[in-house]
Amino acid sequence: MSSLNEYLNQSLNTIKKANWYRQEKLITGMSGALVEIEGKKLVNFASNDYLGLAEDQRLISAGIDALKQYGTGSTGSRLLSGHRSLHDTLEKSLAEWKKTEKALVFSSGYTANIGTISALVNQKDLILADEYNHSSLKNGAKLSQAQTINYQHCDTQDLVTKLTEQRKNYRHCLILTDSVFSMDGDLCPLPELIQIAQKFDCWLLIDEAHASGVLGKTGAGCLEHFQLQGENIIQIGTLSKAIGSLGGYVAGSSILIDFLRNRCPTWIYTTALSPADTAAAIVGIDIIRSETSRRNQLWQNIQNFKQHLIDLKLRLFESESAIICWKTKNAIEALEISKKLYQEGFFAPAIRPPTVPTSRIRFSLMATHQPQYFLDLKQLLSLLSSDF
Ligand SMILES: *Cc1c(COP(=O)(O)O)cnc(C)c1O
Repeated sequence: MSSLNEYLNQSLNTIKKANWYRQEKLITGMSGALVEIEGKKLVNFASNDYLGLAEDQRLISAGIDALKQYGTGSTGSRLLSGHRSLHDTLEKSLAEWKKTEKALVFSSGYTANIGTISALVNQKDLILADEYNHSSLKNGAKLSQAQTINYQHCDTQDLVTKLTEQRKNYRHCLILTDSVFSMDGDLCPLPELIQIAQKFDCWLLIDEAHASGVLGKTGAGCLEHFQLQGENIIQIGTLSKAIGSLGGYVAGSSILIDFLRNRCPTWIYTTALSPADTAAAIVGIDIIRSETSRRNQLWQNIQNFKQHLIDLKLRLFESESAIICWKTKNAIEALEISKKLYQEGFFAPAIRPPTVPTSRIRFSLMATHQPQYFLDLKQLLSLLSSDF
């Protein structure tokens, strides 16, 4: 045991020396556009609840009703004793929204990704992955044991070069990409990726975690944003961001979903999503599809917020989503800025290596942010920016 602790201690010290050490923050009460942390009220730029649905009374009531009707746990895996009519309702709703034949609900977006990827490909196959993909796509690729090659971020030329060299050596090829990149906020070049996938006989899996609820006419995501059909695309997402609940999903053809129900270990061997989470997600999706005003408000906030930062001449990463990042010189500067913002009542995290190659302050926008919050932040930043 002592060698274990010695090793862990050494590792932690290395992490601390690199300024990579992280700790959770305790949020008390309801988390909305304003949030209370350690007794202090802050404007929340760290939430994935883009539309403010996690605090919506309709989702809360749906959750409570489901708890009363079905109990707390779903008590088993879907194929044994965990299946409820709520799961069917949610899956039908997801499929309709995503314009696919079927959908399948998972316990989280993370397990949807690792399970689906590892069920689809193996040692005989090739994975081409955007270098900035989310951890769940990266670990899904690892678990699958397929030969995995990263292409440069959103660089379709690099992807084509690598496919031209490698595709012929493998049975199947799966292209993996975030649709909105979670730590940058930019979009994958989806129309080109679809063409390339066709040309090289590849399958395409997109992770719509940060696009669902945010992009597209009905908030269905990146495919809808580009007005593309997704029959052959494997669409993955989470119920935990704009949808305001918890869980993940895969949407695609009937045959894909049938296959996953029989071959995907992270769906088969885990407990079904709880009744309360499932019921809240059903209502969340209904609201996203019917209340366009929330999405419009979010986009108005995004434009407004961006313009303020541009006015201040801050260096921003390219973004077409609710994620807006301000590039800092290094991890220490990111930490200092984030700390200063925190002291002054703004919660915006420093994102550093190893999560990303270059340090930044990451702002997540919400439909429920008030214009005044942005003005207050702008004033603070204009005082600070001489230091940075
Ligand atoms: C958050 C996120 C996930 C994981 O979803 P969970 O439901 O929180 O497990 C997967 N992919 C991306 C791109 C994400 O941002």
